[in-house]
Amino acid sequence: MKQIEIDSGSGFCFGVTTAIKKAEEELEKGTPLYCLGDIVHNGRECERLKQLGLITINHDEFQQLHDVKVLLRAHGEPPETYEIARQNNIEIIDATCPVVLQLQKRIKREYDLTDEHGKQIVIYGKNGHAEVLGLVGQTEGKAIVIESLEEAKRLDFTKDIRLYSQTTKSLEEFCQITDYIQQHIEPGATFKSFDTICRQVANRMPNIRDFAKRHDLIFFVSGKKSSNGKILFGECLKVNPNSYLVDDPSEIDFSLLKHADTIGICGATSTPKWLMEACRQALLSHTD
Ligand code: SF4
Repeated sequence: MKQIEIDSGSGFCFGVTTAIKKAEEELEKGTPLYCLGDIVHNGRECERLKQLGLITINHDEFQQLHDVKVLLRAHGEPPETYEIARQNNIEIIDATCPVVLQLQKRIKREYDLTDEHGKQIVIYGKNGHAEVLGLVGQTEGKAIVIESLEEAKRLDFTKDIRLYSQTTKSLEEFCQITDYIQQHIEPGATFKSFDTICRQVANRMPNIRDFAKRHDLIFFVSGKKSSNGKILFGECLKVNPNSYLVDDPSEIDFSLLKHADTIGICGATSTPKWLMEACRQALLSHTD
């Protein structure tokens, strides 16, 4: 008899849980509700909410809307979005995660303190990611986004640097970047780094590694667009090469079960519990 375990530490973080709860509450009222961008980087959960009436729109479509309700997801938005909403009489249901909101405020405060010496506000994050766009928006587009240690090497070390991080980036690389800048900043310039990585993701890394080690075979359930999904799946792979990323039960290769006695199912902060359970049911129906 094969043993199948779902990781109790996997699944929605509180930011995503709150955003989805807000959407469901609004949808229950029966008035149309729009969401700016996918509410969560998980196609199956987006589909479930679509069935309940949630209409996902992009920024171009948002600009054309008037007199409606629009939900802002946990990633947050730049100030222009709130300005457009004000002009178009759009009611905002703000589900920006409190952790992201705090980070936006910190970056804005830093930017407002910026003097004429050309202080560089640097964000370690993914270019074009919604959260990063929201953060850069706090600086009128002036913040510099770096995606890696390699890119950090191109900063101007003769000028002050203030380093922040997108909430879901790797703590390890953030520390490497901090060390590198510390060692290369020129005399006369100052450097401060602020570890703004959300522990909802960082704290899951050791746990998910332990979980992945305990099983012969791992199915990591996550949308391919989820950045924390990529990071957490990478942690599984490091300790268990027999780890596979699947979007949903239809992507499970059941022939892999032949050589496994214990199977682990885990996922990202954007993976709903019901989807991990659906994978477990699919696996159960293929085991004796
Ligand atoms: S990962 Fe952290 S910052 Fe991002 S939505 Fe979840 S709780 Fe908020």
